[in-house]
Amino acid sequence: TLSDRLTSVLQNLRGKGRLSDADIDATAREIRVALLEADVALPVVRAFIAKVKERAKGAEVSQALNPAQQVIKIVNEELVAILGGETRRINLAKNPPSVIMLAGLQGAGKTTLAGKLAKWLRGQGHTPLLVACDLQRPNAVTQLQVVGERAGVSVFAPEPGNGVGDPVDVAKRGVEEAKRAQHDIVVVDTAGRLGVDEEMMRQAADIRAAVNPDEVLFVVDAMIGQDAVNTATAFSEGVGFTGVVLTKLDGDARGGAALSVREVTGQPILFASNGEKLEDFDVFHPDRMASRILGMGDVLTLIEHAEQAFDAERAEAAAVKMGSGQLTLEDFLEQMLAIRKMGPIANLLGMLPGAGQMKDQLAMLDEKHLDRVQAIIRGMTPAERDDPKIINASRRLRIANGSGVRVSDVNDLVTRFFDARKMMSQMAGRFGLPGAGGKNN
Ligand code: GDP
Ligand code: MG
Repeated sequence: TLSDRLTSVLQNLRGKGRLSDADIDATAREIRVALLEADVALPVVRAFIAKVKERAKGAEVSQALNPAQQVIKIVNEELVAILGGETRRINLAKNPPSVIMLAGLQGAGKTTLAGKLAKWLRGQGHTPLLVACDLQRPNAVTQLQVVGERAGVSVFAPEPGNGVGDPVDVAKRGVEEAKRAQHDIVVVDTAGRLGVDEEMMRQAADIRAAVNPDEVLFVVDAMIGQDAVNTATAFSEGVGFTGVVLTKLDGDARGGAALSVREVTGQPILFASNGEKLEDFDVFHPDRMASRILGMGDVLTLIEHAEQAFDAERAEAAAVKMGSGQLTLEDFLEQMLAIRKMGPIANLLGMLPGAGQMKDQLAMLDEKHLDRVQAIIRGMTPAERDDPKIINASRRLRIANGSGVRVSDVNDLVTRFFDARKMMSQMAGRFGLPGAGGKNN
């Protein structure tokens, strides 16, 4: 019968084992090529692959994926973790104005970014002031003024006709102006050179020292490729920065620079620029970047689908059990975790007609509560999970002690479980789910 088949599927899932070294090595070679093609710097590739191999060796064989897919999944997760492990919001000062300084090579996209940031900040209710400290190129000040006008924010610039001003002095006066005119954020645009040079570094470092920014953003063109490591290192040592912005992601670069810069400097990537218009700007999304670097969007989608299909299979198997009144506490926990993974969908469930009866069960989806439920069920023996009827008073006490909860919590869980099982069985009957009423068992 269907239910037998599903039960045997469930049993097969309990197979154990590790990924073999051959599986890991074969896939790691492909990943290595993918990373190099994405322009990730070689030392970064080496370190990264080593980390992934290490993790893959300890990984259980997945039931949903083949070994290659599984290694790729690990690579992807690891990439996302590294790219976004310390994703954080922009730092603002307790006492305004906050100062955000932009640094980077000429053409990296600093001035454009100043406008994007200004618009974005404005949208969040801030009142940014742009300060023009690139006095190197004749048009740089005008460019910032144009950008500021488009973003609808004020720009502070040295008065024309006074000869070339001193960028450090302009930066300081810009911050004073912000205080006077009550701008809560100052964005300092600075000069860059085509290549790294000492004078530029010194100027940027002097500006930093003079205005003590809350955030120094290193702006880097994603197309920079292998050179990302050198440039980032030079800026890290010469000026120092607290965050990274990747620009020109609308180009065809695979974005390996992101990983290189992140690995080499340890600083988080905060924003991504992907076009010339002010709107072409977003907070940085590690998962999108990881998939771009890997260049395996399709494979990643396949992996996701395979896992979802597998989840669906398990859910169906569980539904059969539910309908037949054979649900165990183990299934119960698995179902709850699965629903939790669905996130907001779980909230929608509460709106379904007839779901009113499930109110209590849905309430259990509260994170802390779910953690406790998990702890309690993990504190039970397999026999108890399989057949909760045997959980008598002394077992309850032992479970409570072992899971660090009160006996009443255990009582509560067991009661709810039996209620849920009964209710699910009834609902299954009503909706004609497989196995309903235990007829087919
Ligand atoms: P800066 O020298 O660092 O201030 O760089 P700019 O802001 O002047 O930008 C240099 C050039 O790159 C300009 O032509 C910008 O329009 C362009 N640019 C900046 N950011 C992006 C981006 O995200 N995508 C694209 N396609 N062009 C960009
Ligand atoms: Mg500029």
